[in-house]
Amino acid sequence: MTTSDSNRRPHGFATRAIHVGYDPASAHGALTPPVFMTSTYAFETVEDGLAISSGEKPGYVYGRTRNPTQTILETRIADLEGAEAGLALASGMAAISATLWTLLGAGDRVVIDQTLYGNSYVFFTRGLTRFGVSVTVADLTDPDDFAQALRTRPKLVYFETPANPNLRVIDIAAVAAQAHAAGARVIVDNTFATPVLQRPIELGADLVVHSATKFLGGHGDLLGGVVVGSQTDIAQIRGHGLRYLTGATMAPLTAFLLLRGLKTLELRVQRHSASAMAVAATLAAHPAVRQVFYPGLLASPFHPIAARQMRAFGGLLACELSGGIEAGRHFMNQLTLAHRAVSLGDAETLVQHPASMTHAAYPPEERHRHGISDGLIRLSIGLETPEDIIEDILQALEASQQRG
Ligand SMILES: *Cc1c(COP(=O)(O)O)cnc(C)c1O
Repeated sequence: MTTSDSNRRPHGFATRAIHVGYDPASAHGALTPPVFMTSTYAFETVEDGLAISSGEKPGYVYGRTRNPTQTILETRIADLEGAEAGLALASGMAAISATLWTLLGAGDRVVIDQTLYGNSYVFFTRGLTRFGVSVTVADLTDPDDFAQALRTRPKLVYFETPANPNLRVIDIAAVAAQAHAAGARVIVDNTFATPVLQRPIELGADLVVHSATKFLGGHGDLLGGVVVGSQTDIAQIRGHGLRYLTGATMAPLTAFLLLRGLKTLELRVQRHSASAMAVAATLAAHPAVRQVFYPGLLASPFHPIAARQMRAFGGLLACELSGGIEAGRHFMNQLTLAHRAVSLGDAETLVQHPASMTHAAYPPEERHRHGISDGLIRLSIGLETPEDIIEDILQALEASQQRG
């Protein structure tokens, strides 16, 4: 099902998200792929085992590195991202750490953008640095600052766009060109946009990582991660980063749930984006709100690049209230439909406070320097009826204003 006849146009995104990598004829006609709950695989002969283990013959050896349900998922997500190959792991952090531990060694240098998911930031600045990797933090929205950072001769450049939590947008094609000219390879965390809205490989990135826990799964019921890139890179990350550096294997049932999630990914992300746009406009027009961070708003400094690089603007936004951190706390506590929770990309609207939750691992002075203010509130707009989400936000804003 992966390719259509050569004289027909290629299948669209939603078709591929539903069909690629699985043929029911391979499993008794079962419409839905089976979950292979097995830790190991039996070889017909010793010779066969040797041929499969050495990679001479296709097949499965042991569940830490491969599982047939996981293979379907890897084929499908690689296709959706426009990459040659994919690898599924136990969480987003597993995908990120297995990838970087595979590609970097002591003495290597890496450049990261100043705004990353809190644990990714700490993985680089306090994790990799313990093993002789030097990390330079730069503002990748500023070509001059990035050019200066590239003078350190990094092996890799790593960033998110839109960035967690303040929705800064980085020009993937420009950064990739600048990095490649300096001999560095580029890794993009595409968790916020998903391949529905943006495909970094097509814009020049070498590898793409995801927290599949978020939009790809989409239902708040699993933890997973993926990395996609060239056959060579992915084989290396599987053989080193997954096999013996982390052992962070995705469970077969998780691969099954992710395949289910992917079937509705395009529909969900379109709805998340439309509702987030409506919420952003409502917040921007409200007197209790000081600032809204959403690349879909014309007033956003990131709107032009986001409009060029993304098909819509995604389900995440952030804001700061006029009454500062106290008003923000009160606003969050007054919400009755939206849940106060970290994570994102679920059917439920989730609201969180980065400074005390997802980004608490940043030292406060770095958090402030990198534009993650104490009053910032991040909203992951869910799939509920849009009017209900807006009504809940408006009543909580009124309450926070009356108090302030
Ligand atoms: C959540 C998140 C991660 C980490 O993923 P886990 O699945 O929680 O390990 C990495 N990057 C971004 C942008 C995230 O939002």
